[in-house]
Amino acid sequence: MPPRPPKPCRKPGCRKLTSEPGGFCAEHLALVEQAQIQRRRAFDQRRTGAASRGYGQRWRELREQKLRQDPLCARCGRAAQMVHHRDENPRNNSLENLASLCRDCHERLHGRLR
Ligand SMILES: [Zn+2]
Ligand SMILES: [Zn+2]
Ligand SMILES: [Zn+2]
Repeated sequence: MPPRPPKPCRKPGCRKLTSEPGGFCAEHLALVEQAQIQRRRAFDQRRTGAASRGYGQRWRELREQKLRQDPLCARCGRAAQMVHHRDENPRNNSLENLASLCRDCHERLHGRLR
């Protein structure tokens, strides 16, 4: 089987070429794995805590799907923890309307952090 042609790393700003199946270079692949571990831990906490109430199962699945697809913050490239609705409409759950963001960028976007 011929090797896959290398593609640019999916991390914003990274110009390395990679043929890893996930689309990240070796350096950022580690970052993505770390993000996944963090997320799994947060998910376990949510499952046992009251924070799981208020969001439907469908949204949680969609959110996980989006974070699997885009594990890094769309703005700064750090590990993403939040999924943001670009049009600020929480009922518009089409994938094009969602953006993976880290906590800081998300808070900043909503003007809660300055
Ligand atoms: Zn990279
Ligand atoms: Zn960010
Ligand atoms: Zn948001």
